[in-house]
Amino acid sequence: VLSAYDELKAEGAVESYVGRGTIVRSSERRDNGERPHEAERPSAPAPLYWKPLLAPGAGGGGSSLIRDLLALPKRPDAVSFGVGVPAPDEELKAELADIAGKLFREGGDESTLLHSPVEGFASLRQTLCERMSRSGIRTTKEEVLVVSGAQQGLDLIARTLLSRGDCVLVEEPTYFSALETFRAAGADVIGIPADADGRLRLDALEAMLRYRPKFVYVIPSYQNPSGRLMDASTREALLHLAYRHRTPIVEEDPYSALGYEGAPLPPIKAMDLYDHVVYVGTFSKLIGPGFRVGWIAAPRQLAKPLAAMKQIADLHTGSIAQKLAESALREGVVDRQTDKIRVAYREKRDEIVSALKQYAVPGMSWETPKGGLFVWVRLPDGVNGSGLAVRASDRGVDYIPGTPFFADPPHADYIRLNFACVDMGRIREGVRRLCAAVQDVLGE
Ligand code: PMP
Repeated sequence: VLSAYDELKAEGAVESYVGRGTIVRSSERRDNGERPHEAERPSAPAPLYWKPLLAPGAGGGGSSLIRDLLALPKRPDAVSFGVGVPAPDEELKAELADIAGKLFREGGDESTLLHSPVEGFASLRQTLCERMSRSGIRTTKEEVLVVSGAQQGLDLIARTLLSRGDCVLVEEPTYFSALETFRAAGADVIGIPADADGRLRLDALEAMLRYRPKFVYVIPSYQNPSGRLMDASTREALLHLAYRHRTPIVEEDPYSALGYEGAPLPPIKAMDLYDHVVYVGTFSKLIGPGFRVGWIAAPRQLAKPLAAMKQIADLHTGSIAQKLAESALREGVVDRQTDKIRVAYREKRDEIVSALKQYAVPGMSWETPKGGLFVWVRLPDGVNGSGLAVRASDRGVDYIPGTPFFADPPHADYIRLNFACVDMGRIREGVRRLCAAVQDVLGE
């Protein structure tokens, strides 16, 4: 009924008044100095009203909270701990420009402007297998699918595996876009909480596995948003629970190359001997999110259905982006860049944690991440992360509130700070402003 009223309103046939309801608009009123509606001219059709035409679920998804917050007016001197992307890098851009120039001049049309295979260039898939073998993942290029960023990887997995009413288990908190993607495919998402040390509660997981979820989604290394590193024994236990309950694991791994303390832990995919793990990787956090090159390493039986879904989605990932990724990998650009940002981001991590220690308001707490881009901060009792954003914006600092990262909101008392994108010299000031905003809210 509301949609029908909306449609009539859009056509100018009715008017709504708070307290009086919706009434038919008289032609007199319409002639009364107001611009006549197009629909009144006998020959002109009424504008089409699209809302009732949308498919179920379309347009309803997407975290409007995050969009709204990103749209808040920003002071020119604002410090942004918001979006989860790496800092732009001039040296990297120059290296990529050289490679791209060479590809356009010498690579032939098939490397740049023509179609590539749905699965991605075989040479890139082989290079990705070699890269994954460094972390112990044994896979072949037939099991690898190049995708347009990890987000597309998640979407293809969701479309390939999920039906309406299926259930997906996720760590809580987790990447909000994954929650939206699984829900858009019709799934119910159930969060598995972490214990006080940030470890996945395996008892809760096992209890939920009995309800036959379609898969378990995890980001074991330097998770988004919590920055947590799942320890080796939890990874192993998770895999063995998956074996016992014959449940797939979707493992996302955008951040494992950005570890600041010691060698990285092997991905769960590297421990999997029985085709239970689908692994998703991306270059977005090492090179830049605009690059849109990621990959899926899937069990063999899943690789073809995923490729069929990819063909429907976009035929293939951009040929030039794939070739650029391949050359950047082969020529050591990705490794050099990773080594460089690992050092820079470790310093930024230390700076933000030290600034939090200096300025934190009583009741604020945080976990020091061992890698990745994020510090996950708990606010004092009574301070709501979304409400605080407006105060923080006035003070000249922004961040992402924690609520959208939970399968079961509100959990309003967390916020996520991305420290990687902020200049070293601005981090302390950003934290000072944030803590002042918390103080403002507490004083209200
Ligand atoms: N997965 C996770 C866990 C992420 O943190 C992000 C980046 N915010 C993405 C996927 C998106 O990656 P991409 O740009 O490769 O689609």
